[in-house]
Amino acid sequence: MSSEQNQAVVGIVGGGLVGSLNAIYFAQRGWKVELYELRPDMRLPIHRESRRGKSINLALSERGLSALRGTGLNLEKTILKASVPMKARMVHIGKNGTQMSQAYDVNGQYINAVDRAKLNELLLDEAQSLANVTVYFEHRLIAADFDNNTVEFMTSNGEKKTYRNDFIIGADGAYSKTRTQMMRSMRMDYNQEYIDTGYCELSMPPVKDLDGKPTFALDPNHLHIWPRHTFMLIALPNPDFSFTCTLFMPFQMFENIKTEDQLMSFFSENFNDSIRLIGEDALKSDFFGNPRGSLVTVKASPHNYKDKSIIIGDAAHAMVPFYGQGMNCGFQDVEVLHQILDKHHIKPQTNKDGVIVGLEKALDDYSKTRVKDAHAICDLAMYNYYEMRHAVTSFKFLARKKLEGA
Ligand code: FAD
Repeated sequence: MSSEQNQAVVGIVGGGLVGSLNAIYFAQRGWKVELYELRPDMRLPIHRESRRGKSINLALSERGLSALRGTGLNLEKTILKASVPMKARMVHIGKNGTQMSQAYDVNGQYINAVDRAKLNELLLDEAQSLANVTVYFEHRLIAADFDNNTVEFMTSNGEKKTYRNDFIIGADGAYSKTRTQMMRSMRMDYNQEYIDTGYCELSMPPVKDLDGKPTFALDPNHLHIWPRHTFMLIALPNPDFSFTCTLFMPFQMFENIKTEDQLMSFFSENFNDSIRLIGEDALKSDFFGNPRGSLVTVKASPHNYKDKSIIIGDAAHAMVPFYGQGMNCGFQDVEVLHQILDKHHIKPQTNKDGVIVGLEKALDDYSKTRVKDAHAICDLAMYNYYEMRHAVTSFKFLARKKLEGA
């Protein structure tokens, strides 16, 4: 580096799944990385404890695995060791508990159930082990002045702190503050759409096998679905032999279930075989005690503001979870972004005018490539809600699966 060049600093807002993977990619390419995360360090015992019973699992597919592999580290191997492969979906068809296995892929490709928190911790561990990464926890982005390269945060003790970065990345999720700050400086098309469906998580504990050892209550190598046309229950396996179930249904249906009796008759009517497996008491306490989440699609275009900032992951394209691709697509953003930066020979340096040469062109290229793919996958995710809760039960669909021998 000549005396007229300086090492470039990239600021990443959001140390979730996508932000922490991106920190690793940038650090590996020689950038100085500052990662700012709103929450406290999730790896501290006190925060681990408060997450107990709340961890949700995610389906990790080849799209996401490829991005993990791209680090050249052992991330893929490590996380797959702690995952459960789901080779097919198991459709719980009728009231009597009839099940039908439908393979995901004729060539045997499959998806993997992983623990979200474990994956995030692994990525944070790897990022923080790199000498050129600094992580700031309990830092909430409150303002950004992209033209002057500054970002302002509120810390947990109420202090305002301002940092200077040469390039700012918003990986701060569906309600991204980075994105709203970018929208003040540029003409970004933006669309946000809620669906009328909410979700609630329920836990299905392990059962004992004939030798008294813990085992899964259902076939573990499947993503289980109870499709009921306008609503559905799904269950994904965890390595500890439990399943995390998610009930998706219109908010009005959640509202209509006000008493334990109403809940039990709703479950007997629609998911009778699951009651024994979840347990009546656990079902009642999870249903009435766990939060109800809402589901939003976010589309934005373009994803960058000149050479100053870019949004990735849910900040750029939140999608409904029915295609199991939100995180996978965010991981792929990271892989594609770095392929494009590499293609444009972007160096982690600023010149004497404080400019990262070629970065604006590279980011424009990224937006051109990525926006249409992100929009397409948001639409596919929405379509897959129809497929999962309804189409998999249709006569035509079942007949096709029978012909395929699935
Ligand atoms: P997030 O995970 O939202 O992380 C954003 C981070 O930014 C957080 O750590 C947050 O604390 C931080 N932050 C927010 N605001 C600020 C601020 N102002 N300042 C600093 N930091 C900030 N995807 C899949 O691929 N497979 C699945 O099976 C799957 N299942 C899902 C099931 C459900 C029920 C839901 C709701 C989603 C599912 N998803 C799935 C989607 C997946 O959860 C998201 O796509 C993924 O979490 C996006 O990661 P992210 O890092 O972009 O955003």
